[in-house]
Amino acid sequence: MDPEGPQCHCGNRGCLEAAAALPALVERWGGTREEFLSALAREDSKAMNVVLAAGEPLGIAIANLINLFSPKMIVIASPIPQLIEILLPRVRQVVDARAIPWQRGRVAIVGSDHGQRAGMVGAATLILARLLSQPRTAFLEKSCLQGGIGR
Ligand SMILES: [Zn+2]
Repeated sequence: MDPEGPQCHCGNRGCLEAAAALPALVERWGGTREEFLSALAREDSKAMNVVLAAGEPLGIAIANLINLFSPKMIVIASPIPQLIEILLPRVRQVVDARAIPWQRGRVAIVGSDHGQRAGMVGAATLILARLLSQPRTAFLEKSCLQGGIGR
């Protein structure tokens, strides 16, 4: 996202994770995760602003995805549902400003209801989609049996 951005644990700089993931938000706020979540629960303005600031790089990344792939829906997941509630309006605002005009309004940007299970639900959905779209061959493919369903 930003070559001069914050250091990411993957070794790169300016990754979306370094800008918008919960650990980055907690670090930017300057306290423990529990203190940050408590501050958000009481709508502390500094904590809210840290989350809102993350909406810009997240919105830019999503606008790029929309411009490249024309998805019908973008689902944002977080183990902390309150983060999604705070982020969504800002993300939608950034996307409206940056997505190609004819793409605007054609994509639903929604929050996941799955909380901490979102990753597992997403993985299971990929498997089910493959099995349902190719029921005769999905079980027979070697790559399917070895966990290569997403390929
Ligand atoms: Zn990274």
